[in-house]
Amino acid sequence: MTKGTTSRGKRTAHRTHMQCRRCGNRSFHKRKGRCASCGYPSPKLRRYAWQRKNFNHRRRIT
Ligand SMILES: [Zn+2]
Repeated sequence: MTKGTTSRGKRTAHRTHMQCRRCGNRSFHKRKGRCASCGYPSPKLRRYAWQRKNFNHRRRIT
């Protein structure tokens, strides 16, 4: 066992995330019990303004 690939390969042994029931991504955190992508157990979808690449929030050009 070295610092390189051999030890690094074990990182896939325990999976922190499993498939989410709502969004289908593999981003449901098992121990937290929450989806990192959509925030599953919460009724509201996890959404943020910075997810969209929209620069015209305040002022509209054109
Ligand atoms: Zn989800």
